[in-house]
Amino acid sequence: MIRVPPRRGGWLEVVCGPMFSGKSEEMIRRLRRAEIAGQRVLLFKPRIDDRYDLADVVSHAGVRMSAVAVDGCAELVARARGCDVVGIDEAQFFESSIVDAALALADGGLRVIAAGLDQDFRRLPFGPMPELLARAELVDKLQAVCHRCGGPATTTQRLVDGRPAPYDGETIVVGALDSYEARCRDCHSAGQDSAAWMAA
Ligand code: ADP
Ligand code: MG
Ligand code: ZN
Repeated sequence: MIRVPPRRGGWLEVVCGPMFSGKSEEMIRRLRRAEIAGQRVLLFKPRIDDRYDLADVVSHAGVRMSAVAVDGCAELVARARGCDVVGIDEAQFFESSIVDAALALADGGLRVIAAGLDQDFRRLPFGPMPELLARAELVDKLQAVCHRCGGPATTTQRLVDGRPAPYDGETIVVGALDSYEARCRDCHSAGQDSAAWMAA
């Protein structure tokens, strides 16, 4: 496999995969390398994600990098002025205009790295991610370790009180007592009401 970033101008690269697959770690790794190369780097995240320190992106293993929490795409584009490289973590939580925002930055000569969940807990494409993936020059789909069988996991299981969350639950639940596991397709559960899943 050969992946060659463009020699001139900007571009869009996307890192996707389920929870725990190392998207944030990979984002931080790429941005640190750019920093070492003397480039002006800024990492953004949506304000919705307040699991950890508001000012930082923190990976599940504790790797962290300071970030700017933004309320939307307009704020992101405005703050990206003067940057060479821009990271957008948890990109699935942005509104659909993140696609045009990312492309505008890339057209303007910036390297744009977007990381996010490609699928929600139902395994459906998550928010603006399909469009970002389609329009990117470079794409990486990372795998986690399946919490059940130890195999390669490509999906995220939402659990409520240890049981699979219902299919018709909200896609984004902020501050809820849900927990999540990375699962392979075979271990991803159809939930208590599997008829509802099959019908949907
Ligand atoms: P993401 O941003 O994709 O959710 P992170 O970069 O925050 O992922 O965290 C990745 C790290 O999470 C791994 O390097 C590993 O230390 C830890 N981890 C915890 N559970 C798992 C799992 N089931 N599979 C892989 N890594 C896991
Ligand atoms: Mg992450
Ligand atoms: Zn499995």
